[in-house]
Amino acid sequence: MLSRRDILKASALGALAGGLINTAEADEYRNIVPPTSFEPEKGAKDLYKYQISKSHKRSLPYGWAREATVTQFPISEGVAGVDMTLEPGGLRELHWHAIAAEWAFMLEGRARITIIDPEGTSEVADFGPGDVWYFPKGYGHSIQALEEGAHFILTFDNGHFSEFGTFSITDWITHMPKEVLEKSINMPASIFSKTKQGEAYIVGGKTPPALPLPKNDGGRDDSPLTHRYQLMKQKPFFESDAGSVHLVSSKEFPISKTITGAIEIVKPGAVRELHWHPNANEWQYYISGTGRMTVFSSHGHAQTSDFGPTDIGYVPQGFGHYIENTGDEDLKVLVVLDNGIYQDISLSDWIAKTPNYLLADNFSNQAEDWKDKPKDKLVISRKKK
Ligand code: MN
Ligand code: MN
Repeated sequence: MLSRRDILKASALGALAGGLINTAEADEYRNIVPPTSFEPEKGAKDLYKYQISKSHKRSLPYGWAREATVTQFPISEGVAGVDMTLEPGGLRELHWHAIAAEWAFMLEGRARITIIDPEGTSEVADFGPGDVWYFPKGYGHSIQALEEGAHFILTFDNGHFSEFGTFSITDWITHMPKEVLEKSINMPASIFSKTKQGEAYIVGGKTPPALPLPKNDGGRDDSPLTHRYQLMKQKPFFESDAGSVHLVSSKEFPISKTITGAIEIVKPGAVRELHWHPNANEWQYYISGTGRMTVFSSHGHAQTSDFGPTDIGYVPQGFGHYIENTGDEDLKVLVVLDNGIYQDISLSDWIAKTPNYLLADNFSNQAEDWKDKPKDKLVISRKKK
């Protein structure tokens, strides 16, 4: 079989010999380009999809949690995720994470966080639906549901991080010598006599008093950077009749140095267009609606999966992908990228900024064929009517 280069060489020689480029011959060359399949095959095993609803649920009287780490979802090296619900007053106790920063999105209800920074500054803040928090790696924090209860998605910038392996204060205290506790806080160790032995994880509590708190009782609020960002109250990063993207990177939310997050809404019939992220892995939680994603990993490998509410998707750094709405309601997806600087390159923008003669060469057609091409990045778009 002749390679494309051989054919080009042959036509070039033919053109030289004949003195003229034979357009019929050039057309013939175009016609022998094999048609590309536009229907990637569905893989037997989903590489880029995990159903967190199938993950073990750690249930306690005041809340539950289920997680997706590399153990459940091997491809997700860059990001681990947790789906958590707290009953009113339910407290995810004081704890820290040794190997990951925490970025969260509030789905429903309201909760209050407390956080202490290494500088000794602190913040107490309330969160409602659409709000985001970020806790740098190792900072001490707690989460307590307000009177409505709370349901949120936690993400961590390390796929090996397990929520069930956090450093919880009860676990710590109940494994330390009494004398050391007394010396450490200048109080009798009996202050912890009623503390649950081992890790409490989620405990029951009263719903907390309204903010602001007294200055001398938790209300200092002197963190130089806030840990709260009200994502869905901001102007969208992108909006059209095909959908919208609300996005928060370290540019808008300076403390969030290692994570960028977004809520993408794709309208029925529309697609979050083909693109990739040069600097980050992408983790997705499908909130509502139904969608389809094909992940392209080079060497002719592309895998397509269908997603519905509570499903998780993952796209390794640099892999090409899209998210298409396959239903008749809005598709809403939480997207988390493990880099505080947001970057993407999309197919529409690449085509928009590439000269038509080159596109014609690359795709074996004519420069004029590209005259109606996009002028700019489309982000979320649908077929022209
Ligand atoms: Mn945490
Ligand atoms: Mn993406």
